[in-house]
Amino acid sequence: MDKTLADLIKISNITGRNPALTQAAGGNTSVKTSDGKFMFIKASGTALKDMNAKRGWRKLRLNKVLGVIKDKCLAKMSTARREQEILSRHLISCCDGIASTARPSVEANLHALLDKCVIHLHPLVVGAYVNSKKGHVEITKLFKSEKYPPLWIPYAPPGFPLAIKTSRLVADYEKRYGKKPAIMFLAKHGIFVTAQNAPDAMRLLHNVLNRCENNLPRLKTLCLKPPAAKKILEVKSAIQKAVLNATGHRLPVTFIYNNEIALFINRPDAAKLLAMGPLEPAEMVYVNGTPMWVETPSPAKIASGMKKMVRQGNKPVSAFLVKGVGLFIAADKKDAPIVKDFATGTTLVRLWASHFGGLVPLTKTEQNFVKRWYLAAPQPTKHRR
Ligand SMILES: [Zn+2]
Repeated sequence: MDKTLADLIKISNITGRNPALTQAAGGNTSVKTSDGKFMFIKASGTALKDMNAKRGWRKLRLNKVLGVIKDKCLAKMSTARREQEILSRHLISCCDGIASTARPSVEANLHALLDKCVIHLHPLVVGAYVNSKKGHVEITKLFKSEKYPPLWIPYAPPGFPLAIKTSRLVADYEKRYGKKPAIMFLAKHGIFVTAQNAPDAMRLLHNVLNRCENNLPRLKTLCLKPPAAKKILEVKSAIQKAVLNATGHRLPVTFIYNNEIALFINRPDAAKLLAMGPLEPAEMVYVNGTPMWVETPSPAKIASGMKKMVRQGNKPVSAFLVKGVGLFIAADKKDAPIVKDFATGTTLVRLWASHFGGLVPLTKTEQNFVKRWYLAAPQPTKHRR
């Protein structure tokens, strides 16, 4: 197998198998060939952990991808038209003989700008910084002794707008430091690390994540006393009835309870923290937004909340945080693990971020862009990043 492809599969599988690094199969990876002509990159539609020699990647001509970012005409197009145009240009740039129509990662333009081996993830420990008011200040403090500090990218919508903003900031960084950034923190999104080879990129990733994790606020450990089985059954039944009423689907409901969930549901500001809405585009794209806060588990009230979401142009959520009881997931077998990942992840990030000056969620305008962008995406899939 091509050494570049082997490296890509290795870094993808290792990172993809760690749920703390990739919520619900998010994230993407790439490795460029040593002649600088080609880039192997994760394909949309395959999770990092499932990539193998036969599927889950595409090989692109690098100069063609870089040409996309330089094309000023694209910025003037509507989101829908631009998505189509970029997709067809990326597919034309593919030179792997793969008959599949799988598109290269939606962040291919951004990967093309960076060093040889690129890993992009949405780790929870990074979420605490990129979604909080003091996150940028904390990151600056954490890396202040570094000769080449991380580059902080203020929020930009996924895909083309993010690549354009990043290309400007990377060029400024290069002017100032004489090289491209090896670490980038993306507000309301995640992290990119890049190095000249796969082992260095993996080492850098672990080093950065350890540093971020060691600086996190310590959460109190509660003496856990899970709710009575009767109460859990009662709430499960209420949620199942509400979901059936609001969506017409009878779905299995599962109950999740741990220290973070217990801390969250007993906070006096829990409802307020959830009402701030989704923290990052992936939370909207994969699980239809933030879990619903349930003060009293009445089927009619929950159903009415879900119907309101639909009236507002959103899809109904599948996760419910019930005051004093715990987290409930109403989803089929295939979707339940994804919903669980996001619901437990967003709860933890909200707890951490509230110690870093408070949450910075997506604004309404940013949410609307993600909705339009997702609808405009030519190939909507659960793992489209
Ligand atoms: Zn991402």
